[in-house]
Amino acid sequence: MKIAVIGGGIGGPACAIGLAQNGHNVTLYERASSLESVGFAFRITPNSDLCLKYLGIDTMDGGAVVANTSRMMDYKGNVIFENKENTDSEKAKKGSSVFAYRPHLQQQLLDRAKECGVRLETGVKVLDVDVDEGSISLENGSKVTADLIVAADGVHSLVRPHVVDSKKYFPKVSTGHGCLRFTIPKKAVLEDPLASQIVSDDFRMVSMRGNDKAIIVYPVDYDTQFNFTCTHPEKLSRAATEGAYNHKISPEMVLEMYKEFDQRAIRFLELADPHGFRVWKLVDMDEIPRWSAKRTVLLGDACHPVLPFGFSGASMAIEDATTLAVLLPKDVGVEQVRERLDLYEQIRRPRVERVRESSDSSREIARGREEKQFITEYRVFLTEHDTVECARRAVNEHFGKE
Ligand SMILES: Cc1cc2nc3c(=O)[nH]c(=O)nc-3n(C[C@H](O)[C@H](O)[C@H](O)COP(=O)(O)OP(=O)(O)OC[C@H]3O[C@@H](n4cnc5c(N)ncnc54)[C@H](O)[C@@H]3O)c2cc1C
Repeated sequence: MKIAVIGGGIGGPACAIGLAQNGHNVTLYERASSLESVGFAFRITPNSDLCLKYLGIDTMDGGAVVANTSRMMDYKGNVIFENKENTDSEKAKKGSSVFAYRPHLQQQLLDRAKECGVRLETGVKVLDVDVDEGSISLENGSKVTADLIVAADGVHSLVRPHVVDSKKYFPKVSTGHGCLRFTIPKKAVLEDPLASQIVSDDFRMVSMRGNDKAIIVYPVDYDTQFNFTCTHPEKLSRAATEGAYNHKISPEMVLEMYKEFDQRAIRFLELADPHGFRVWKLVDMDEIPRWSAKRTVLLGDACHPVLPFGFSGASMAIEDATTLAVLLPKDVGVEQVRERLDLYEQIRRPRVERVRESSDSSREIARGREEKQFITEYRVFLTEHDTVECARRAVNEHFGKE
């Protein structure tokens, strides 16, 4: 099949790789011409690491750092509990819990896509989609038709309203939370007498939570930097986020926002590059009524944004992409696409909705509620899932052995 993938973030290239590996003719359209400035990091859990391996990607080659013990503290610095990760070496061989630097993972995905024969059209913005015709219109004036259009164009998806045929399902303006992100060279933290009391090589991920705020830190970029993800009530950063999605914020405002935190956490904020703080307004969206129309399908944040409290947005996009790859082998033709896209949604929707719900509940932790039991059960559900096996089983059940 001739397949057009829109979006070169995380889910788009992952899907393009899977479909090209199957032998389809895939072109990927990404509006950005360079990935340099798209920064920051995320956590890849074993479930999505397993998918990445299926797609031929080892995150360690891109400088990902393996998680060991994570520690949760309250905002005053008292330890609430600790959790060990990657303890089962056999399981970890299949898929590990790692911290990945977004530009590195994105580059790995795009390199692998190229290797698999995907045509990469970067610096090319898709302006319109005609779901009935199966075509996309590009900024350069050309129109491309395809047997299948995969839209992985993120939370502000251009394609989504065409699929759900309604303006109702645009993202909500705000969740009431803002998210601050920055990085600090690891050396600067470990050499600082105060900051080094919180993170060390023994505790790779530390979160401090309370007063509806959280400071989460973990290492990335070949273990040379600490990445910080800090949530807070959105009103505290509104002056910086008003009218924009990604804004710079002053160090004074940052220090004011987290002023009640333990002095060791405050020290992180003081060690950071004062020009390096960025703040996001977090957006969420209601569940949409369908994930595909005709031969156009949504994946990742375009159809189900996941709040960052559960560390799973990228992981869900990767699982979606892998599922589509398993459901659409080379011998599946245009006439079978519809039933395959229905099965995709049937497989993915219940899992994604539980993850979305749990990522929202995780906000309770930011409010200071201890939810050890919830976290333990949810962790098994999230991390022990085998996406490829699950999709293969569904294909066998619905269409017989392939
Ligand atoms: C603060 C924060 C922290 C997070 N932490 C984590 C975490 O720890 N773990 C985790 O798993 N997830 C995390 N996430 C979520 C994760 O970043 C997203 O869920 C993930 O990037 C979604 O991937 P995607 O491919 O669906 O969309 P995106 O990564 O948003 O990619 C969409 C791509 O489409 C392109 N595009 C958009 N429109 C067009 C167009 N018209 N034409 C061409 N190209 C277009 C964009 O340029 C972009 O490259 C976090 C998110 C935030 C905001």
